Amino acid sequence: MKIIFLGAPGAGKGTQAEIFSEKLGIPTISTGNILRAAIQAGTTVGLQAKALIDAGKLVPDEVILAIVQERLSRDDCAKGFILDGVPRTLAQAQAMEDMGISIDHVVDLEVPDAVIITRMSGRRVCESCGAPYHVEANPPKAEGVCDHCGGKLVTRKDDRAETVKERLEVYHSVTEPLRQFYGERGLLRTVPGDKGSVEDISAAVARVLGV
Ligand code: AMP
Repeated sequence: MKIIFLGAPGAGKGTQAEIFSEKLGIPTISTGNILRAAIQAGTTVGLQAKALIDAGKLVPDEVILAIVQERLSRDDCAKGFILDGVPRTLAQAQAMEDMGISIDHVVDLEVPDAVIITRMSGRRVCESCGAPYHVEANPPKAEGVCDHCGGKLVTRKDDRAETVKERLEVYHSVTEPLRQFYGERGLLRTVPGDKGSVEDISAAVARVLGV
């Protein structure tokens, strides 16, 4: 099963990707998490990406494509994978298709901008493993501590209100056209990302995936 999670920042891609990764026994590849790890490790890619991420802008396509190509070539992706946050531009989607990366389902989590903006203030992420949380909708078992690895939960710098506005603009102008791209290929499965609890949304995703 090869799945892409599409949707605005804060639509719930990371949360649903984690749930289905466990359920289906396939890895999630989150370019955002990979880039944040590169920033923490101080690699060249990390240094290149940091200012762009902090400003809510996209990282260049060639950097992203190199990350995806390397990550998908590993053995754990042989049975399938979930892509969270990639592709994000038509050029990335086209290049991935040209590389022969086939996709079974593109799950588009639709959430209105007004809901995204209020959601983002409650969002937290594990600084060690990248697992996503929300103080109300998806809280950890112990406050401030990751359920998976015990890491510290932090607020992402790019989740500040002014950066979220920029990220939403980038999403609408550059990423949203991917709906049409995958719609034309018969792969688009649209799911409302703001109707009910995390579990309700997972149930809706499971229905469109047929799992
Ligand atoms: P995310 O965790 O998916 O919200 O990604 C955080 C930030 O990383 C984005 O705002 C971009 O700056 C960068 N990023 C992640 N994935 C991509 C991508 N596929 N293309 C370009 N930039 C990306």
